[in-house]
Amino acid sequence: MILVTGGAGYIGSHTVLALKEAGHEVVILDNLSRGHRDLVFSDHFEEGDLQNFPYLDSVFSKYPIQAVVHFAASSLVGESMKDPESYYYNNICGTLNLLRAMRKKGVIKLVFSSTAAVYGEPAVIPIMENYPLEPTNVYGETKVAIENMLSRYYSAYGFSSISFRYFNAAGADPDGRTGEDHTPETHLIALVLDVALGKRKNITVFGNDYPTEDGTCIRDYIHVSDLARAHVLGLDKLLSGLEGKFAFNLGNGHGYSVLDIVEKAREVTGRYIPSLEGERREGDPPILVASSEKAESVLGWQRRYPDIRDIISTAWNWHLKRFGS
Ligand code: UDP
Repeated sequence: MILVTGGAGYIGSHTVLALKEAGHEVVILDNLSRGHRDLVFSDHFEEGDLQNFPYLDSVFSKYPIQAVVHFAASSLVGESMKDPESYYYNNICGTLNLLRAMRKKGVIKLVFSSTAAVYGEPAVIPIMENYPLEPTNVYGETKVAIENMLSRYYSAYGFSSISFRYFNAAGADPDGRTGEDHTPETHLIALVLDVALGKRKNITVFGNDYPTEDGTCIRDYIHVSDLARAHVLGLDKLLSGLEGKFAFNLGNGHGYSVLDIVEKAREVTGRYIPSLEGERREGDPPILVASSEKAESVLGWQRRYPDIRDIISTAWNWHLKRFGS
């Protein structure tokens, strides 16, 4: 059985579906602070918090857990700068408790949800995994701290792990079973679709004087179901005996500017999406685009939905179903 922490969240719920499709049995642990009860796709659900070590310990006693896929974390850059303590506590202490509980029961295989934010503002694009880890925000720092912990856990305790450094997760399950539902919502595509639905008046473009062709920031948007399948591939490698501490970028290798996304969303939805020019958002690097060649060659990862129109249209179908009136 596989324990998925944060399995009621956005990437977590897609990964639970992918794990089950691949034949894995799943137990979900989520405190539902950001996750949703109706996006729990397993009969085995534990509502609880990583801060509670005795409870975690009891979960490992209750189920025959072979490996863990760990999503549960706070993940908003802006929030992490305003309240670093809650990020250190939730992400770092929470993960340390999880690793302790795993080790106590001899569970030594982990797939970890990391982020492109570990790279900060790299000078060279596309970004490779061996680039320096120089995060510019607290959220990214917590993920680097945990990746470092995982390296030490390997050398000291033979604990094997794969960290996936996600670029911009977007889109929704093509069958409409789950999708993005954040409160507050801060992600570009979900906000643009809120405007298309009439739930927001307009989208504010954060900065138009970046050193890019149209002056707006460029990001690498990757379909969440493609991310989910990478977790299954990584987990299966660990279960079949891969040993060590590994990190893989997950992106599409193509960049889209903020204005590109707004334009594509207008095409896909056929709706009016007014945009306003706004100030730069603090800490936004101008361009983040991944090289995912390592995940392709080592894990055999292939994207099913590389086309930005598929990413936006699956998100739009979900948005209409979840939030449309
Ligand atoms: N963005 C924007 N307006 C918004 C939200 C986001 O212009 O209301 C921009 C943001 O500055 C960044 C890109 O859209 O350049 C993607 O932002 P998001 O928060 O979705 O992801 P991030 O790249 O920060 O992880």
